[in-house]
Amino acid sequence: MSPSHAIKMWEKVVIPIILYGSELCSEMTKQAICELEITQRYAARRIQGVDRRSSKATTVLLGLLRMSTRIERSKLTLLNKFLYETEEFIWKKVFDFRICQFMVGNTKQKGFVADIFPVLEKYQLEHATNNYLDRIEVVSKPVWKKLIDKTLRDAENKWWTKITSEGDLTRIGNIHQDVTLCDLWKICNQNRQYRHCINIIIRLAILKTDGDVMCKLCNKMCDDMTKHFMLNCIKLFKERDSLYENILNEIDINLFNDLWNSDEDILIETLLGSQTDLMRPDQISAAEWTSFMCIVSKGLSEMWTHVTNCFIEV
Ligand SMILES: [Zn+2]
Repeated sequence: MSPSHAIKMWEKVVIPIILYGSELCSEMTKQAICELEITQRYAARRIQGVDRRSSKATTVLLGLLRMSTRIERSKLTLLNKFLYETEEFIWKKVFDFRICQFMVGNTKQKGFVADIFPVLEKYQLEHATNNYLDRIEVVSKPVWKKLIDKTLRDAENKWWTKITSEGDLTRIGNIHQDVTLCDLWKICNQNRQYRHCINIIIRLAILKTDGDVMCKLCNKMCDDMTKHFMLNCIKLFKERDSLYENILNEIDINLFNDLWNSDEDILIETLLGSQTDLMRPDQISAAEWTSFMCIVSKGLSEMWTHVTNCFIEV
């Protein structure tokens, strides 16, 4: 099953079961949230066939919201139901009573009302309760859903930008800049035979090098396994030449020259799927980019067969 199909099952079948009733969970501990995040990361790794490293990137590559964000979304969705409904329901009257208590200073109360105010403040959505208390019309469910989907997705993108601005996730952060399903996995929908090759690209993009390591193929030291493998290892020059020849046969000569003459990091990121520098949508069509990535992934997966377990730590 392709990751984009597997992720639909995760979202539509598994997540509703795991988070059933979470909108009413009050004062969830950090430990409980952490265990939920670990569960989702485990699923994301299994779906993509990658190892335990760079676990935060694995959920982002599938466009998955963090579990903490999902819980906040379910609370915001329930809030709209409370605000929008008429007063004929007893639970609506209890809600009104509780919110009035909270607004007059009884901030020690526990439960949904106490939980929702920090969430509203975090996402700057306080106008929802303010409008309600001022008897301004409450927005309908579809309008509210659209608003919170956009607000929470923007917040997730900001979080991803922040954690990838430095450290081990910089490369994958440059390649994959938003919390959305990675375009590389979408290629597998029409080209299932490339699933393994795309998996190699994803692995290279999130591969971390812990300190200096020695390449067992050429006995050279390096501090970036992906860079050494893709650009520098002299034992792989034949496979690398073959890859560049295939790329040259596929893309425009001017684009190939730009690629060849680009900065090393940009070259690596472009070969690993980045569409922000050379392969921007205004430079190359989606179909051409797909063909390019199929050729690159096939070439890199052929090189990868020489590489498995070839780096040792020193
Ligand atoms: Zn080497």
